[in-house]
Order: sequence, then C-alpha cells, then structure tokens
Amino acid sequence: MIYTSKIQKAIKFAIKTHEVYQKQKRKGKDIAYITHPLTVGIILSQSKASEDAIVAGILHDTIEDSTEDKKVSAEMIEERFGKEVSDLVLSITEKDKGLSWAERKKQALEHIQNFSHDSLLIKSADIVANVSELLDDYARYEDSVFARFNAPKTKIIKHQLEAICSIVQKWKENPLTEDLKFLADKLQMIESTKFMSQNPAKVIKYKDYDENEKLECPACGWKGTPRESGFIESGDYCLDVSCPICGKMLLVADFPKA
Ligand SMILES: [Zn+2]
Repeated sequence: MIYTSKIQKAIKFAIKTHEVYQKQKRKGKDIAYITHPLTVGIILSQSKASEDAIVAGILHDTIEDSTEDKKVSAEMIEERFGKEVSDLVLSITEKDKGLSWAERKKQALEHIQNFSHDSLLIKSADIVANVSELLDDYARYEDSVFARFNAPKTKIIKHQLEAICSIVQKWKENPLTEDLKFLADKLQMIESTKFMSQNPAKVIKYKDYDENEKLECPACGWKGTPRESGFIESGDYCLDVSCPICGKMLLVADFPKA
C-alpha cells in the first residue's frame, strides 16, 4: 500500500489542527497553512521515506502550532500514531518558543547534530518546502517577502544555508541532498551581489595554489579543502574553487597555465 490508512489519518489530524480549529495561514500570506505540512508529506513520499516518516512529516508542526484550547501533545500523537511517530515529531519541534529568533535558530542547528536519518529526512523536506516557497515568492515580490519574518533577510538566508550545510554534511546519502544543494545555490544568488562585494573570493597566484589549503565558506559555514570541495573549475586564465554546498566562490588562482 502507498496511500495507507495511517497516512489518511495523519492528513485528517493535521487539517483539524491547522485549518478547522484555527484557520491558520502561512506567515504574512492568505494561503492556508495546511499546504505546508501536506507539501512536506508529498516530498517525503517521493524520497522513499518510511510510512512513519511521512506521517511524522504531515504532523510535524501540530505540537508547535496548535492553540492552547486544542493543544496537541506528544502523548496524543503517540496514542494515535505510535511512539516512533511521536518521537520523530518531537525531535524536530522547537522546544522553547520563548527564546529569541537567533537563540531558537542556534538551538535548531545544534539539534541537527543529534538527528537520526529519519529526522534529517523530515527536516530536509521541511527546508525544501519552505525554501522553494520563499524563492517562488521572491521571484514575484523580491525583497518585500522578507518583511514577514522576525529577522532580517541576510540572517534568514544565512540560517537556511547553515542548516542545509549541516544536514548535507551529516548525511551525504540523504535522498534530498541534490534538492538541498540546488536550493542553497539559489539562496546564495539572492544575496550574492552585496554579499560577494563584502566577502570576495580569495585571489592568489597559481604557484601558491595548494589543494589541501583549509577553506571556510562565509555563506553557509562549509569547511574543507579545494580537493574535498570537488567544485573546481579550470579555465585559460584562472582556476576557481567554489563551496560544494551553496556555490559561493571561495578561491581564485590566477593563470594556471602561465
Ligand atoms: Zn557555502
């Protein structure tokens, strides 16, 4: 079975929580919130995720976003969908809504370090859904789309890039790695004009080029050497090394053939 009764039940439960009980909308938009968890469920089911991971993906915001009078608890999820699902939902739920944006995002990055593959896959699908939506809105409304968040554009992009970088580095065989890298590259481009002028690639002479030199990406936090990046392009006048996660150019070595 592909469309199991457990998945149907999860869809009904999520619709009740987000739509029926509170008509929740996507932040700053007139779009029903439920579109997001359903999108995450579709992405997961196309990534060969297990039934429990798909179910947890559909339910992933129900604890965080339920209203006080209709509060969804981990116990309620466990009772209806089992311990595996409730543990997965809890693992990607932001624990302390009282913290500042920066502190919550810092915690979220730390949590990724302890994620199981299923949690990483759900978090990846969540990011793919959110960043795709953001890029689609950006194509239409440009910088005004960032006004709806509680943090400035540069910080939002940097956080998403760092989250993508730590997920990709934690689990390279993640079925969503290519999607995440594609989106990281697009996110980097939104920032690129200003960001590149503030963080230019390091330019060196080719004779000083060392494929084992330690590099760090200022955009997403990736650390490694040119050899490890595998993202090296060599032309007639220079060789350049870019970040393998977000595509930011990190190093330019002049005149490789001179
Ligand atoms: Zn990078």
